[in-house]
Amino acid sequence: MKKKLLGAVLSVAMVATLLAGCGGSAPAADAAPAAPAATEEAAPAAEEEAAPAAEEEAAPADDAAAPAGNMKVGVAMPTKDLQRWNQDGSNMEAELKAAGYEVDLQYASNDVQTQVSQIENMINNGCGVLVIASIEGDSLGTVLATAKEKNIPVIAYDRLIMNTDAVSYYATFDNYMVGTKQGEYIRDQLKLDTEAGPFNLEITAGDPGDNNARYFYQGAIDVLQPYIDEGKLVVKSGQLDFDQVATASWSSENAQSRAENIVSSNYSDGSNIDAWLCSNDSTAQGVVAALDANYNGEWPIITGQDCDVVSVQNMIAGKQSMSIFKDTRTLASQVVKMVGQILSGETVDVNDTKTYDNGTGVIPSYLCEPVFADINNYKELLIDSGYYTEDDLK
Ligand code: BGC
Repeated sequence: MKKKLLGAVLSVAMVATLLAGCGGSAPAADAAPAAPAATEEAAPAAEEEAAPAAEEEAAPADDAAAPAGNMKVGVAMPTKDLQRWNQDGSNMEAELKAAGYEVDLQYASNDVQTQVSQIENMINNGCGVLVIASIEGDSLGTVLATAKEKNIPVIAYDRLIMNTDAVSYYATFDNYMVGTKQGEYIRDQLKLDTEAGPFNLEITAGDPGDNNARYFYQGAIDVLQPYIDEGKLVVKSGQLDFDQVATASWSSENAQSRAENIVSSNYSDGSNIDAWLCSNDSTAQGVVAALDANYNGEWPIITGQDCDVVSVQNMIAGKQSMSIFKDTRTLASQVVKMVGQILSGETVDVNDTKTYDNGTGVIPSYLCEPVFADINNYKELLIDSGYYTEDDLK
């Protein structure tokens, strides 16, 4: 399921069609948004030649001038193993460079210690702002204490960084809403409000070390729980609690082996699985592989998230029913805007000041709005918007 090269190639094409900001963002389902702050564009003035960024991979040549002062931005991404982080990293890098910043982009192979060292280096090498998509939300407290001592602002990117007061802002897609949309998709496809059922449901959630994973799970469960309570949805495996359905490292292989066990223990009698709630595409791909190998019933509704190429191909082939589309161009644009606002001392654009408490208090957040893609709308969402070409999906 590794789409490294493809991710890199795609992101070059995508940068050409960057969307503007996260217009139309919605608040978390359980929180009224704060009034958005002023939204003036805040790209810094371009004055000096940019020095080449120190990073893992060659970046596209860029002759943008760097703004005056310390305008070096450290961007820490978790892994290249998932397509989305390649896109996030490339989009951030290209947009920051276009705005005149120097960029230190690092990927940490999903290894917490590697990410800690990379952030240490960013601090020591004089980054003025850190943008961090953490591997484990709870493991960056010590290194970020150093960032705080040096007055380096930190933006938590996509995943909230927990239990440290060094985080200034959080930018993400509305994680609870992601889960809500997955749950609603299952509810609507199974027509749970009008059909008698019962229907069989199984659940595969994300990595317990990722703060997002519980939001995705809870958003979906809050939609589905009433039907489980009335017996219209039955979880034959009995595995319903987050800890039972979580997938370490969001790994497809882990999701696949758990799904294989569930199928052989509960569905070898020929009974159907009607829906399989999967929190994202890497876990959905694991479940699809398990069903392909071991399941003989009718194909279930399977949810996902990210619109990875493999999952969109599965959608076209009828093996995954939907995926939440989180346009990584939109999030990158928003974060670049926030970086500019921080560095120029302007009001930083946030739209939620209630939902995301990282253990030290609520972190002012900007939540972009996720949408779902399925066979009926993927062309419009993914191809017409320039996110993919038709050839990418062949
Ligand atoms: C992201 C998802 C992604 C998952 C696995 C989450 O934090 O929000 O988009 O699928 O991590 O990388």
